[in-house]
Amino acid sequence: MSRLAVDGGAPVRTRPLPTVLVPAGRTFGAEERAAVLEVLDSGVLNASCGGPWLPELEATMADLHGIGHAVASSSGTAALHLAVAAVDPEPGDEIITTPLTDFGTIAAILAQNAVPVFADVDPLTGNLDPSSVEACLSPRTRAILVVHLFGAAAPVAELRALADRAGVPLIEDCAQAYLARPAPGAPPVGTYGAVGCFSLQQYKHVTAGDGGLCITGDAVLAERMRLFADKAWPRDEGRFHRFLAMNYRMTNLTAAVAGVQLRRLPEVVDRRRRQAARLLAAVGDLAGVHLPTLEDARLHAWWVLPLVVDGDNRRWADALSAEGVPAVAGWLQSPVYLYPALTERRTYGTSAFPLTSPPARRDWTYGPGLCPVAERLVDDTLVVLQWNENYTDADVDDIAAALVKVAAADHPLDHQ
Ligand SMILES: *Cc1c(COP(=O)(O)O)cnc(C)c1O
Repeated sequence: MSRLAVDGGAPVRTRPLPTVLVPAGRTFGAEERAAVLEVLDSGVLNASCGGPWLPELEATMADLHGIGHAVASSSGTAALHLAVAAVDPEPGDEIITTPLTDFGTIAAILAQNAVPVFADVDPLTGNLDPSSVEACLSPRTRAILVVHLFGAAAPVAELRALADRAGVPLIEDCAQAYLARPAPGAPPVGTYGAVGCFSLQQYKHVTAGDGGLCITGDAVLAERMRLFADKAWPRDEGRFHRFLAMNYRMTNLTAAVAGVQLRRLPEVVDRRRRQAARLLAAVGDLAGVHLPTLEDARLHAWWVLPLVVDGDNRRWADALSAEGVPAVAGWLQSPVYLYPALTERRTYGTSAFPLTSPPARRDWTYGPGLCPVAERLVDDTLVVLQWNENYTDADVDDIAAALVKVAAADHPLDHQ
């Protein structure tokens, strides 16, 4: 067994892997460059003032998902806010969601004066546990907001059934899971709930810097989201500003780049899947490590590569990073409900609104112990590796070698 780099041994690799922050780790081409220039040359940068780019982007997104409507906005957080606003909760109504997500998921709930209620997650995938969601249902539940974490589809069929029984909509946060599927041949995520929300931020599979997309099969929800992104101004009618709404418009520059990126998306996801399958085949069963399965490789969107280890995720992350394969323990610093925004209820001034009763049915506070499985993932067992469609076979083989090496050091008796 060779000495770990973290203990002074030679690292598996020293050349940096491509990341989404460098050109080598992005899939941009001449078409994106041409699209930007086309918009500039048109003189119209605001999509409400004309140009084909935004309608084309929305049509591409709807077609990719075989669904009736797509609505563009300025970010993934905006897209989530559009979805929550379209559901139109009363202040203090509850939206059940996950503690393992980007804060944008929670901001969208609070911004619309609803209460985030945190259900616990599966200890291996980090995705919402339907039985915990069920236990969170109350007469004030107004929606379930599921996140497809790391690229793996959450149990959407179960969650949809729960939502239907409760008579509330399911909203899907698909920011990390473009074209992920819950089962072979099943439709992609974003098509199981009332609305699916996506992000075009720099770290996502495809990007325009920032940007958001919502998809829905419901024309009424689509229209409400469209209005919410444009100050509720029905541009084709005389009656102005129908309800309180924001300016979450996407510009033509963003739409033009996003349109090209979206056409590349199936290939981007496919390449991520192929390289993930190569990795999983190379490492086989690693003692003390849970990885997505080889069968999952074709369903997963591989935003990142999540590992669940027996414990001491920080040691694992340090050891892998020292081998030249950057790894992060826990992904988040804490489950989102332990951020000051929630523990200190920093919402609107010092009011703690809407986490107070009234408008909520009870006073809502957040602290350690709320979701023990999520806390254990973040604190002890979860390790996240970056993933990229531009990894070469040699890159993937190095990542596999680093995983095998660190696992062997962690479980010397299994690997002598
Ligand atoms: C990135 C992300 C968001 C927020 O998207 P932005 O475009 O950064 O606002 C929301 N939810 C999840 C799960 C994300 O990964």
